[in-house]
Amino acid sequence: MGRLAEWHEAQPLIRSGQIPGAAFPPPPSAQTSGVAGVKIQEADAKALLSAQGLAIPPFEIARTPGEVETVAKRLLESGASQVVVKAQVLVGGRGKAGGVKLASTPEEAREVGSRILGMDIKGITVRKVMVAAALDIEREYYLGAILDRGSRRVVLMSSAEGGVEIEEVARVKPEAIHRVAADPLLGLHPFQARRLALGVGLHDGLLNQFTAIAQGLFTTMMANDADLVEINPLAVVKETVDGQVQERLVCLDAKITLDDSGLARHPQLEALRDLDEELPTDARARKLGINYIHLDGNIGCMVNGAGLAMTTMDLVQHYGGKPANFLDIGGGARHEVVRGAMELIVADPNVHAILVNIFGGITRGDEVASGLIEAHGQQAREVPMVVRIVGTNAEEAARLLKESRFETAVSLDEAAEKAVALAGGKAR
Ligand code: GDP
Ligand code: MN
Repeated sequence: MGRLAEWHEAQPLIRSGQIPGAAFPPPPSAQTSGVAGVKIQEADAKALLSAQGLAIPPFEIARTPGEVETVAKRLLESGASQVVVKAQVLVGGRGKAGGVKLASTPEEAREVGSRILGMDIKGITVRKVMVAAALDIEREYYLGAILDRGSRRVVLMSSAEGGVEIEEVARVKPEAIHRVAADPLLGLHPFQARRLALGVGLHDGLLNQFTAIAQGLFTTMMANDADLVEINPLAVVKETVDGQVQERLVCLDAKITLDDSGLARHPQLEALRDLDEELPTDARARKLGINYIHLDGNIGCMVNGAGLAMTTMDLVQHYGGKPANFLDIGGGARHEVVRGAMELIVADPNVHAILVNIFGGITRGDEVASGLIEAHGQQAREVPMVVRIVGTNAEEAARLLKESRFETAVSLDEAAEKAVALAGGKAR
């Protein structure tokens, strides 16, 4: 063992998987960014894992029962004894929902495919399926990596409770999850990968295979700026090679969430965003270049700057209201953006009042005011609104708003109070 590795072995932080002074990550996925992450489909996740040398059963994507049959025929002819047809939707628990089925002949695959395509899984319509060579599973494990914001490290986890969602394992049997934190500079050490393998009871040949897979999972995470990479199940499969029965570790399911702030560094990954499953409002906000997060209150907020947007939401809450969204139009927004943002707010049927709070720096008050006036002229429904614009070109903005009879406010307190009153008073 090298001196560096020895030194690391000796670090209490890495050894026990505990970061001094900080509680170690409780339920793992609650720690990921969630809002900002871009989920990609299993097939794309598998392609990224395969690019790092991980073992993935051969597969193709099909969009019609006919295509399922063709692909199944090809896989069965090239040696697969069965195929598995899997719904490609960005939610977990597809197996339980009936979205993962085995088939032994092309005809059976077609039949299974026709049942899965068009199926509704957790509110999402299945438009495509993966058809993969099915393997003979002996045991199932879980292996995952998350960007743990608490410890500011990539944490890898293994569990012998494969096939079960890790959140569930964390809840009912937390001791069954083994964790190691990769070093930000030195990465995942082989001894750490082995610790994960030994934790779940793997040894001999499988230990080395597992170690390579854990390293590959970590490289996949780093190479793609992912927030989360999960293989569940990572399966031990039985294969007969030259009359000899062998065991091999294979990734049967894969889930990857990309950090959308990292996407600029990977233009090719942008294409993996599944527009079929993106909410129309999210897609619209992204095109406008604004930050919009839907919430369940009734006061729509339009603000420039994330900090000011949060302050505005706090004040709405303070005066007894509930914000319907977080919306940051960014710096220097033009009137088209303001109009687009207003359309997003009004499209939410829960919105009964709108609060616009603009602190003009780079953003020009008059530009925002014209956007609001334009939007108001074309608005699908009448929603009471109160506008506060201060800073750059505020006088011009005030003049425009007055001409168009907009309700205005000078201070943010006044604006928030008025918005709450316009929405029908205090929230329940
Ligand atoms: P999820 O339910 O959305 O997590 O989908 P998975 O891809 O994990 O599939 C669910 C279950 O289907 C797995 O836990 C396996 O038991 C089973 N499964 C998936 N692929 C195969 C395969 O190639 N062969 C066999 N026999 N079962 C599979
Ligand atoms: Mn799974």
